[in-house]
Amino acid sequence: MLKKAVYNRQDFLKLNGLPARLRIWAEDMELEDYIRDEAFYHRDLPRKAPLALEPLKVAVIGSGPAGLGCADQLHRLGYDVTVFERDDRPGGLLMYGVPNIKLPKNLLMEKITELINRGVKFVLGWELKDEASFAKLQEEFSAIVLCVGSRKPKVIPNIEVDNKQIFQAKDFLAEVTKDMLNGTDLMNVKGKDVVIIGGGDTGVDCAAIALAQGANTIHQLEMQECQATANSVRDDLCNIVQGDFTISYGTMLKRLLRDEDGNLKAVETAQVEWRSERSGALPNTVEVLGSEKLLRAQVLILALGFNGPEDEIFSACGVKRSPAGMLADGGEYFTTTKEGVFAAGDARRGSGVVAWAFTEGRNAAMKCAEYLRG
Ligand SMILES: Cc1cc2nc3c(=O)[nH]c(=O)nc-3n(C[C@H](O)[C@H](O)[C@H](O)COP(=O)(O)OP(=O)(O)OC[C@H]3O[C@@H](n4cnc5c(N)ncnc54)[C@H](O)[C@@H]3O)c2cc1C
Repeated sequence: MLKKAVYNRQDFLKLNGLPARLRIWAEDMELEDYIRDEAFYHRDLPRKAPLALEPLKVAVIGSGPAGLGCADQLHRLGYDVTVFERDDRPGGLLMYGVPNIKLPKNLLMEKITELINRGVKFVLGWELKDEASFAKLQEEFSAIVLCVGSRKPKVIPNIEVDNKQIFQAKDFLAEVTKDMLNGTDLMNVKGKDVVIIGGGDTGVDCAAIALAQGANTIHQLEMQECQATANSVRDDLCNIVQGDFTISYGTMLKRLLRDEDGNLKAVETAQVEWRSERSGALPNTVEVLGSEKLLRAQVLILALGFNGPEDEIFSACGVKRSPAGMLADGGEYFTTTKEGVFAAGDARRGSGVVAWAFTEGRNAAMKCAEYLRG
C-alpha cells in the first residue's frame, strides 16, 4: 500500500505493478514539451512590441490556454491586457485539469510568470457572473475576449453529484491539484474502491490519480465499443484488465447501491451492444441480458465530457449560443454576436486540445486587434 500520494512523473513510473495503460499515459511527454518549448514562443511577432503612449485596454476572460495565447499575442501587439480568472490560480485546465504527473505546475507557473513580468496583468478570483460585472468591463475596456472554456459538465439523469462520494471529474482533479499545491489532503481516495464513468482521456487522468493515491480498486466504464473510440488504433488501449484496474468498453452503469446509512457501496453495470434498427440509422444501445455485474464502489467519478460554456456566460454577456451550445460566431471567426466581444478556445469550438486552444487565442487576438485598429 502506498504511504503517500505520488504526483510526479518519475515516481509514478516507478510504482510497482503500474498498469500498462497508465504507463503509456504517464510516458506521454507531448503536452509538457509543448508548454515548455512552443506554446509561449510565437514566431511571427517580436517578443517585445513597442507600446503606444496610451495603449488601448483589452480584457481577456479566462486564463486557460486560449486566454494565455490571446493575452500573450495582444500584449506583443502593444495592447494593455488584463486577464480575469475566477480560480485562485491561472492556467485553466492546464492548472486544475491535467494532473501534475503530466504537466508539472511549476513549469506552467514559470511560463505564466514570464507573461506577468512582460506586463500582462492577471486578476484572480474574479468571476464574470452577471450583466453588471460584464457592463463594468465594457466601461473600462475597448474590447473583451471570452476564453471561458467549455465548463458545463454532461450529467447522468438521476445521479446527483454530492462532492463526498460522487464527483465530477473536473472537480475531483482540481481539488487534488489544490491539495498538492496547498499542502492539504482533502481529496484522497486511498484504500477506496473507485468507479469512473467515461473511458476518455479525462477518465484515464482520474484513474491515474486514483492509483497515485493508492485506491484499492479502479474500474473505468465506457459505453462505446473500443473500436468506436480514439483508442481503437492501438490494441493495447482496448479492454484492459490488470489486477484491480480495468477499463471496460461497451459497458453501462445501471444503478447505484447504497448501505443503510445512504453511503455508496457498489454499482451495477451491464454490457451493451450498439445496434441500428435499419441500415443507415444511427445505432442505439441494447442491454445484453444476463450481463449484469456488481462492482464495489465508495467513490464514483463522472468523466463524461462537457456541453459548452456555463449558462451564466450567455446571460451575463448577451451573446448568442450556437446550435452546439458554444459561443456563436457573429459572422466571422472569433467574433461573437456582440460588437467588440470576441471568443476563443473550447468556449467557441467545443472541447479540444491545448495546442488548438493556444492557436485559437492568438487568432482571436489578431481579429480583436483588427477591430481596435478600426
Ligand atoms: C481533465 C482534462 C485533461 C486534459 N488533458 C489534455 C492533455 O493532456 N492534452 C491536451 O492537449 N488537451 C487536454 N485537455 C483538453 C484541454 O485542456 C482543453 O482543450 C483546453 O484547456 C481548453 O482551453 P480553454 O482556454 O479554451 O479553456 P479552459 O482551459 O477550460 O480555461 C477556461 C478558463 O476560464 C475560466 N472561467 C470560466 N468561466 C469564467 C467566468 N465566468 N469568469 C471568470 N473566469 C471564468 C475558468 O476558470 C478557466 O480558467 C484536457 C481536458 C481535461 C478536461
